[in-house]
Amino acid sequence: MKALKKNVWASASGEADDQEPPLPYGGIVQAEVNLQQPCPPNQVTQAFITNRFPGTSQADWNNWHWQLRNSFKSIKDLSTFLHLSQDELAVAGQNTNLPIRITPYYASLLSKFNPDHPLRKTVVPVMDELIMSKGEAEDPLCETHDSVAKCLVHRYPDRLLFLVTDFCSAYCRYCTRSHMVAKDKNHIIKRNDWLQAINYIKNHTEIRDVILSGGDPLTLPDCHIEFLLSQLRAIPHVEIIRIGTKVPAVLPQRITPALLRILKKYHPLYMSIHFTHPDEITPEVKKACNMLADAGIPMGSQTVLLKDVNDDVPTFKKLFHELLKVRVRPYYIYQCDPIPGSGHFRTPVEKGLEIIQGLRGFTSGYAVPHYVIDAPGGGGKIPLLPEYVIGRNDNGLVLRNFEGNEYVYPD
Ligand SMILES: *Cc1c(COP(=O)(O)O)cnc(C)c1O
Repeated sequence: MKALKKNVWASASGEADDQEPPLPYGGIVQAEVNLQQPCPPNQVTQAFITNRFPGTSQADWNNWHWQLRNSFKSIKDLSTFLHLSQDELAVAGQNTNLPIRITPYYASLLSKFNPDHPLRKTVVPVMDELIMSKGEAEDPLCETHDSVAKCLVHRYPDRLLFLVTDFCSAYCRYCTRSHMVAKDKNHIIKRNDWLQAINYIKNHTEIRDVILSGGDPLTLPDCHIEFLLSQLRAIPHVEIIRIGTKVPAVLPQRITPALLRILKKYHPLYMSIHFTHPDEITPEVKKACNMLADAGIPMGSQTVLLKDVNDDVPTFKKLFHELLKVRVRPYYIYQCDPIPGSGHFRTPVEKGLEIIQGLRGFTSGYAVPHYVIDAPGGGGKIPLLPEYVIGRNDNGLVLRNFEGNEYVYPD
């Protein structure tokens, strides 16, 4: 019953109606896609366009500026295409921590009728967001405390986060940076903050790895991205640059040939992409990932473990297999941070361990990321593993393998 509820695309019967065809997983293979041409919308998305944006040209739909301009930003906007539950409707007029923002593309993937649909839960607020639970804090990771310049978080010895914008094309309801994103209504880029941050990096020769994050760096215009990358690349001790983003999942139209021409100039450039659920891996997303991979960008995924969204082994296995097919290597599973109003999203830590245990040995090692807790109070990422070391006997170290069998290593 649980599986039925969690994946409406898989349940042709049940509450889902026949206007919601299954998402075309694996529908289009790379060979059939011309990477230079915009992608024709997948079946589900096409039905949504016809319904909600009739007459919209493919050129407009594939234009990321059009996607941002036409994003859904209120419960009232959402009610124009979703059958909202009482719980979702009740949020209207309430003061949530984060504003609502969903691109038309991502909106097209949400179940119209089922408020329990995984993707819908990640972007449509519910009243639980207003409930503060024990241990929750505005800035649980104490990033403000670690900030050396206004938009830098320098916690580790050789690398730092550079928060280049407070804007995202979609606001995830469990956002770890809910304390800082979307706080400035005009999202004015403060050039001085950037210059100050770049100066700090220049003066700290121990920094060999800079992670552009935010907000979402890929929502910046091409010229701003080029400015940041060129400034950082000009610093001799900066060896690698990374971009942390959810854009390939929520706004794949942003991955244009023009953007790739810029990114390619600043190698070695890595990308960490926030993926949540296999329903996100549409033909559009596959194409965006393939374009990034062809531009020579090594990609890793970051996934937050979320209750009733992705908290079981089959969902993670499917997601990671789909990602590996488009050359994205699963990198981290995060325990959900205790931001205000996140109680309904958080699972016990046991759940994360169960997921790692269900993957390791049962599928490619490439599909097994690190499960980490970002320690409240600013301790950084701490990895957790199921117990594989049983103890010691006279012959050495007693280990347990993925099938539960014991082996002794003569240590
Ligand atoms: C996650 C994070 C990093 C990067 O960590 P890696 O394990 O190197 O990917 C760097 N700085 C901060 C503050 C972080 O939260």
